[in-house]
Amino acid sequence: MSDVDDCVDFLQRLIRTRSMPGREGDIAALVVAEMERLAYDEVWVDEAGNVVGFVRGAADAPSVMFNTHLDHVDAGDPDDWPHHPFSGDIDDGCVWGRGAVDIKGPLAAQVHAVAGLLAEGERPPGDVYVSAVVQEEVGGLGARYMADTLRPDLILVGEPSRNELRRGHRGRVELHAHARGRMAHASMTELGRNPLTVMGRFLAALVDVELPEDPELGRATLAPTLLRTDQSSANVIPGEVLLTLDCRTVPGQTAESLRERLLPLLREAEIEGTETEILVPEYPRVSYAGYEMTYAADNPAHALPADHPAIRTASQVLSAALGGEPPVDVWRFATDGGHFAEAGLTVVGFGPGDDRLAHTVSEHMPIAQLALGLRGNRALALEWPAGYAAAG
Ligand SMILES: [Zn+2]
Repeated sequence: MSDVDDCVDFLQRLIRTRSMPGREGDIAALVVAEMERLAYDEVWVDEAGNVVGFVRGAADAPSVMFNTHLDHVDAGDPDDWPHHPFSGDIDDGCVWGRGAVDIKGPLAAQVHAVAGLLAEGERPPGDVYVSAVVQEEVGGLGARYMADTLRPDLILVGEPSRNELRRGHRGRVELHAHARGRMAHASMTELGRNPLTVMGRFLAALVDVELPEDPELGRATLAPTLLRTDQSSANVIPGEVLLTLDCRTVPGQTAESLRERLLPLLREAEIEGTETEILVPEYPRVSYAGYEMTYAADNPAHALPADHPAIRTASQVLSAALGGEPPVDVWRFATDGGHFAEAGLTVVGFGPGDDRLAHTVSEHMPIAQLALGLRGNRALALEWPAGYAAAG
């Protein structure tokens, strides 16, 4: 089997192994077995359930960690897919299924790229870690744990980037706006205090709210996404309303600074007899390995400048390996890279797959693109850390 065929076969097995957040045990075992088969020096599962493969460096170049995750988002109704989401079918040169792009294609490319070096008797000049973490799709339990326990000199986040370079992304903060009024029979409006009226006024005010702009990442944005009341009956004025806001933040913005910015607008939207508050929700999570962590819905933004040595040297390596200088951009969505960057680590993004297909029913990975990702990752493992040391 060729390198690429072997990687495709692994990708198919990954897609056929379902791995919703909190239920990554089976896929973790699959990745461990694959790393052992491919003769990594050491393979382990940490306390949180993250899988780590280790290859010892031949010299003292900086260490690098290749990083992806084990979980995927819900596939929805399989009938909405052109191919069953857990089939791993190959059609017209592409591997289909949930996770083909986000994140099992990039995961397969990272695991096999580093193994390909070993198979040819080559050894990277610095230590290499290949990690696949748990619960990226629900706020990053695995990465939050890992950022405290493993500190490589460089991190390559493999989220899909069409084999281009990514140097950061906006953060994501979730806010809950609450309005409490007075419940009443809907035929007696004068007895109620309708909190939906408050939310309506608040929603209208949000349209004009000015948010900061970052020279690297663009403007922060804010989207109301969920609206819930304490009622399921259509003939009752609800007593309470909860509005969820999805905020995409730029560096310098925190959940608390956003809350302070928006609370006066909500207070202004109050009507007589109502009360309001904005909270940052906290979610308790437990990993399949039994590790527990409670964290706020607050994933940080991060960005390296375009001329940062880690970006410049990665670009040089990829230019030579892929035959052309890769475009450098930022991701639209948040990744685990924000947790690593917040811990003071240097994070660059590169992975096969079209990021615009992530979380859709059209998720598929062209095998040609997987092959390029494999080649790019392999060159990065071999040349990037030493190049970075020389440039720094
Ligand atoms: Zn992902």
